[in-house]
Amino acid sequence: MATRRDNWKIAGCFSAAVFGFLLSGLPIPERIINGIDLPLLISPAIAAQLTTKRPTPPVVSHRPSLSGKTEPVARPANIPKAYADISTDDLVKNARLLARQYKHKEADLLLSEAVRREPKVAKFHYLLGRGLTEEGRFQKAVEEFLECTFLDPNDSRARFEIAQVYVYQGRFKDAIAVLEQIKSKAGPLSPESQMATGALNSIAAFYELGDPYSASYASPTADLAWQRSDFPIKVAIWSDPEMPELKAPFRQAVIDAFTRWRDASGGWLRFQIVDDQRQAKIVCKLVGVMRGSKYQGGGVKLGETLGDYDSKNADVRGFSRVEVFWDEESNPAHFRHVVIHEVGHALGLPHSNNTLDIMYPFVHPPYVEYPSKRDASSIRALYEIK
Ligand SMILES: [Zn+2]
Repeated sequence: MATRRDNWKIAGCFSAAVFGFLLSGLPIPERIINGIDLPLLISPAIAAQLTTKRPTPPVVSHRPSLSGKTEPVARPANIPKAYADISTDDLVKNARLLARQYKHKEADLLLSEAVRREPKVAKFHYLLGRGLTEEGRFQKAVEEFLECTFLDPNDSRARFEIAQVYVYQGRFKDAIAVLEQIKSKAGPLSPESQMATGALNSIAAFYELGDPYSASYASPTADLAWQRSDFPIKVAIWSDPEMPELKAPFRQAVIDAFTRWRDASGGWLRFQIVDDQRQAKIVCKLVGVMRGSKYQGGGVKLGETLGDYDSKNADVRGFSRVEVFWDEESNPAHFRHVVIHEVGHALGLPHSNNTLDIMYPFVHPPYVEYPSKRDASSIRALYEIK
């Protein structure tokens, strides 16, 4: 039985920036972290790779010289010749531009070249780690962040990134250990410590949420579903008028999200878009990020779904309001992922603690745009669809 609630709110869903610290521009004091014990937290295999310096054998190729003869040119594999004439500064600048266009693979190629040229610059490793994270190459990303930590032990940003990658991988214990380490080194009143505490709180709710491999994470007894007679469910879509260019993409993302959940349910959960919000059971809103509380509990809140029970029956849903917050840095795939996730909540799904499910609360690369098999079996379990 669902207990009667005056109004219930489903927890905020976090993003690429689980640890808002990184985006919030908080100054990082330079008094912390002596000694580097982080490698103790990672697998011996990675530690071994780090202690043995990765060899970078030059690949010898030939290009014509002005005299017409060919001469050997040392360059690494996979780096186009064109890069040879680009300064390291320009490589990094171009990489940042590409990253802003979500061309992380191309950006990382440039950053790899910058790292090869100047392996002692922590910032290059840091940027490459961020790019590799976006590519979903988590192990490689952690290696770069560790290198950064070795080179610049006073900067805790790389440690936050490592904790974040561990969260993306569902390695909560490892993430907690890294965050605790940040706290103990930074001291209780430091901004790092506060951000780490926020991140720990975000993780705590999911750490012991049951078996991430069970057939389903939802049940009609624990989660509040709509009644069958509510379908096709009426959905209204509203966009912040200050963002007219996003009206059409948001509308499409909402329609796609309901379509995918409908398909995941085997066609049962049909929907109908209506113009009048007063007729709708579910209202989906796109709001500018500044109108939402962007930073909450150490993370960036991407969306939120609120719901009310039916006034005649506390055991069924009466109304849901989905809010998706737009950040101008949002990656479009990431944004569509969030819409599907929030619509999942609006249909009654709770969070999952399996990183492959779209209901996993920490949005991470690759930004999948379909409910997983387990999401599908959970929505079917919730609605008792055979
Ligand atoms: Zn959520």
